[in-house]
Amino acid sequence: MAFTQFDRPILATMHGALIAFGMMMVWLAYRGRLTVAAVLAAHILPLFVAFACLFDNVPDGMHRATHLHFLAVALGSYFIFRRDGIYLKYGVSSLCLVAFVVFSNVSVAFHDPALVIPAWAAEVGIWTNTLTALAGLVFIALIMNADLSARRMMDIEMRKAIAKADFQLHYQPQINEAGEVVGAEALIRWQHARMGIIPPDKFIPFAEETGLIVPIGNWVLRAACAQLAQWEARPETRHLTMAVNVSASQFRQPDFVQTVSEIVRISGVTPSKLKMELTESMFVENVGTTVAKMDALKEIGIIWSLDDFGTGYSSLSVLNSFPLGQIKIDKSFVCGMLSDASNMVVTEAIIDLASKLNLQVVAEGVETDEQFHRLRETGCRIYQGYLFSPPLDVDAFGELLALKRTGSEPLSRHLSKLPTPDFV
Ligand code: C2E
Ligand code: CA
Ligand code: CA
Repeated sequence: MAFTQFDRPILATMHGALIAFGMMMVWLAYRGRLTVAAVLAAHILPLFVAFACLFDNVPDGMHRATHLHFLAVALGSYFIFRRDGIYLKYGVSSLCLVAFVVFSNVSVAFHDPALVIPAWAAEVGIWTNTLTALAGLVFIALIMNADLSARRMMDIEMRKAIAKADFQLHYQPQINEAGEVVGAEALIRWQHARMGIIPPDKFIPFAEETGLIVPIGNWVLRAACAQLAQWEARPETRHLTMAVNVSASQFRQPDFVQTVSEIVRISGVTPSKLKMELTESMFVENVGTTVAKMDALKEIGIIWSLDDFGTGYSSLSVLNSFPLGQIKIDKSFVCGMLSDASNMVVTEAIIDLASKLNLQVVAEGVETDEQFHRLRETGCRIYQGYLFSPPLDVDAFGELLALKRTGSEPLSRHLSKLPTPDFV
């Protein structure tokens, strides 16, 4: 408003655009698109600051302060993107620091009085910019400190949980065409004394970063094998297979093959009933070592499954370069296959290719009858998803098997009779 009154339409437009941009960020954050908002902010804010510096023509004897905002953006973007790739983590913050140095030492700015900030506003601006940039830096430092404390707490809590084995496995049934349960995927939950049941998405990424996933993963494998051994001991559950998720850092351990072989041997389970799920990201580096490890465990009978297929960036050659026995079509394809023709084409192509390569296909995230029928028509033979059952604790899973044995209705119809799972 003030800039319009003082005949500075460009400056007024710039401030209007900044307000609109801020509102867009709030809207994106409200819609849960935090990553998009962060990436946009990290690219657009430095441009705004650079532009503002050009219009910031301070009176003689004073120094401009607009460029101080580069420091806040640099620190903020480094913090937000600290777990991302090199460009986002270092690129954006380095550019901001370079811009800070340039605008500190070179007096690049417009000098046309019709463009630049009026003298009275420039003086106010110096103080406002210094204080707001400083407030930004303090705010980010406080958030960084709070994050550090939270991570330290999480680390302590997780180490305690590992020592006390405060974890639980839930089992999501895998169903064949006839609606019979042929196996289960073991999915971990953390039973926290205060916070209740914590889902894997909330702690597995942290465990991966800190390396704590290795003892957790070994616990999962031991618990899953113990359960599989119990199933094998009873005629009515002898046929069941067990799928276990393996994280990248767990797989990278030099003694991974030895540890897994040992756990499987001690449990006494038939290794071919165990399916170990890897994701595409693990196939990008150290191909030779990866294949050697997979071969060694395949040798004793363990089946390798490729999880979340289609979501990574690896090429289709992964399917015949690695000793896989199964692929799992990611739930995003299953979810979108009926509404999006290209999703359907991709799903059909994956199933076709897998059958030609002799790979078993499991469709994940099957939620509706239509998806189930379409997948069956397309040639997929094993299904997993809320249509049949969410992951269940061992008792509820046992009940489901019992219901399935006695009942003749489709599995999904029995769900209302089962206890509610912890979260879905
Ligand atoms: P995932 O391996 O892709 O597991 C499937 C996830 O999809 C599970 O979430 C399951 O509850 C959910 N799901 C199953 N059916 C449906 C459906 O019909 N619709 C939708 N929208 N979702 C469905 P959960 O249990 O929260 O696990 C999330 C992820 O955490 C897993 O994804 C896996 O990557 C990881 N995870 C779980 N347990 C372990 C573990 O023991 N070790 C490791 N390394 N990762 C684990
Ligand atoms: Ca999985
Ligand atoms: Ca999956």
